[in-house]
Amino acid sequence: MLRTAIRSHANLSLQTAQISKRFMSAPAPKNIDHIKRVGVIGSGQMGLGIAYVAANVSRLPVTLMDISKEQTDKGLKFMDRLLEKDVAKEKITAEHAKGTRELVTAANSLSALSDVDIVIEAASENLNVKSAIFRDLDAICKSDAILATNTSSISITKIAAATKKAEQVIGMHFMNPVPVMKLVEVIPGLATADNVLQDTLALAQTMGKTTTVAQDIPGFVANRLLMPYINEAVMLLEGGVASAKDIDTTMKLGTNMPMGPLTLADFIGLDTCLAIQKVLHENTGDSKYRPSVLLQKYVDAGWYGKKSGRGFYSYNK
Ligand code: NAD
Repeated sequence: MLRTAIRSHANLSLQTAQISKRFMSAPAPKNIDHIKRVGVIGSGQMGLGIAYVAANVSRLPVTLMDISKEQTDKGLKFMDRLLEKDVAKEKITAEHAKGTRELVTAANSLSALSDVDIVIEAASENLNVKSAIFRDLDAICKSDAILATNTSSISITKIAAATKKAEQVIGMHFMNPVPVMKLVEVIPGLATADNVLQDTLALAQTMGKTTTVAQDIPGFVANRLLMPYINEAVMLLEGGVASAKDIDTTMKLGTNMPMGPLTLADFIGLDTCLAIQKVLHENTGDSKYRPSVLLQKYVDAGWYGKKSGRGFYSYNK
């Protein structure tokens, strides 16, 4: 009996060691000259930022696709303003900015992504939306194109199941705002090929990012930790324990956070926070992840935070 227990413990340790080896952070960046063009889906706050760093830092041509022409127009205008600011701050030259802008082309149909070597999908945090996109990408993209998703929480393995090439699908989780935040969390799905993992790590590094690798669990590492923290802050507000300002000040000045949890939630988007919390709750079945009623109410009211002009705080649109 004891011998069996020792043997099964040894087997488990071996399996853990094999898994850890696969999920260790990146070795030296690999040559990715075969990645010549990037497709980004979604011209919201994340997609725009990803397109910006791919063009401005990696110097790769980008096709920025959104179903809404209003969103691509808005995105390109926002990119112009970002470039102007960077030139004014002497971070880049006017010539570099002009080159960046010329590298980005907007599109409003997925068929524009037939020639890209990697797609980074940053559409809304909704499994049905993402599955439909990946099903179409399967038919549209080159057979060896990497199909990456910037999902904050949804299973990579589940998204990959919408395609016939699960080995090409991977999570590439950028942080907001993309041009500023240094991390990209990379998440292989169950079937992701090793060369796809290595290419994705190397691409993130050419964008000037540090990479970590996480297993495909709901919320991965970043949101498995961040979302319960934000949810608890909303529950304190809901329970009348303190005002929004005092909750934020407590965490800013008391624990040296750069911003309080409610400001951060407004910045991420309350619709996105709620969607992530629902994924954590539904996919773990653990009641500790239940989203607060107040957060649901704000989203029902269309108070999505900074992007809609109102969340826990009011913003000038
Ligand atoms: P957003 O609401 O700002 O933008 C989403 C964009 O997707 C919109 O422009 C919308 O028109 C577009 N879209 C919706 N359906 C589409 C479709 N079928 N085809 C093409 N475009 C479509 O959202 P966001 O904050 O940029 O988040 C995008 C993704 O990035 C989500 O998966 C989110 O979880 C993830 N993410 C968000 C943050 C954050 O802080 N907001 C951080 C990391 C990851």
